[in-house]
Amino acid sequence: MPRRILLLPGDGIGPEVVEQAQRVLIAAASVFNLDLVFDSADLGGVAIDKQGHPYPETTRSLARQADAVLLGAVGGPKWDSLPAAERPERGLLGIRSDLDLFCNLRPAILYPQLAEASSLKPDLVAGLNLLIVRELTGGIYFGEPRGVETSADGVRKGFNTDVYDETEIRRIAKLAFQFAQKRSARLCSVDKANVLEVTMLWREVVSEVSEEYPDIELSHMYVDNAAMQLVREPKQFDVMLTGNLFGDILSDTAAMLTGSIGMLPSASLNAESRGLYEPVHGSAPDIAGEGKANPLAAILSASMLLRYSLDEGAAADAVEAAVEHVLDSGLRTLDIANSPADAVSTKVMGDAVVTAISSLS
Ligand code: NAD
Repeated sequence: MPRRILLLPGDGIGPEVVEQAQRVLIAAASVFNLDLVFDSADLGGVAIDKQGHPYPETTRSLARQADAVLLGAVGGPKWDSLPAAERPERGLLGIRSDLDLFCNLRPAILYPQLAEASSLKPDLVAGLNLLIVRELTGGIYFGEPRGVETSADGVRKGFNTDVYDETEIRRIAKLAFQFAQKRSARLCSVDKANVLEVTMLWREVVSEVSEEYPDIELSHMYVDNAAMQLVREPKQFDVMLTGNLFGDILSDTAAMLTGSIGMLPSASLNAESRGLYEPVHGSAPDIAGEGKANPLAAILSASMLLRYSLDEGAAADAVEAAVEHVLDSGLRTLDIANSPADAVSTKVMGDAVVTAISSLS
């Protein structure tokens, strides 16, 4: 049975990095005998230009049929003056809610070869490999009531609502425990249960779910301490579970520990493990079309796609090993090179990963 992968190259450097990620998937499919079928569609600015909508109906229909979606990036200065409701980013929000992608996975991996790129001392971060599991469709970003109101005496008041029901907490917690089972069997749940009732419930429900996973060592940490520990001793963590707001902040903090935005993949999954895979970086308009973009974040997103939506762990391992091999060989794109003279192009980096995978056959 073929597996359908929908490519959404998007804007800026998106098409350049997705092209390399697709080549890597094709190489992995050949080595591991996978039957992959690719479709391609428009999302973001390119979709606005061609079809008048950031998430056109044709894209929606292909996304619903796909086993997994691989996205480049959306947005750019060309569309910045559009009203908020018509901008490229709306396409991204549209597909996330359409596919009910409630589980956001943000790995922060620091390849020992790049330890110098981190703002922390190399010995604190070399070999760092943590996974942040962030709830993506609930919490304060979606809670009602919300708004800004002006009282009768002219004082403005802004307000949002942080709300989770136990079903939402339970479904993300279960996934986090399952990811922990595939890693080092440790899970740290982050909350602010000393102050916020919604996270008191979070802690209670996560503890209840833990009874189904006696093999996992569960700990709880307040978010202020978690932020501190991430920059003090990040290697103490393996899998971190948290809500939408805290996850937004902690995943960007963890990402920066690794030094380069060009190396960071992400995944957003729904209850059937269908998912949207995308590099953390944006469309990088400053280098778009110049062949300078680092394709490794997109390639590592493709590896997550193999692991989490297609359940092809061996192929995912091979892609990650190929990336390590290429870094070992000293190849660097501009963002991770010691000097511009040493930098290779997007395509040369993609070629090297493809060659490393193909050499496995
Ligand atoms: P950005 O991530 O696009 O770029 C920030 C800096 O990092 C730039 O100097 C860029 O050249 C560099 N960079 C990014 N990715 C790189 C890569 N793969 N290789 C080498 N260098 C890389 O962030 P920004 O400049 O704040 O945003 C640009 C546009 O992207 C905006 O329109 C923004 O809305 C959009 N954006 C989209 C997404 C997404 O699609 N998920 C995420 C973030 C930003």
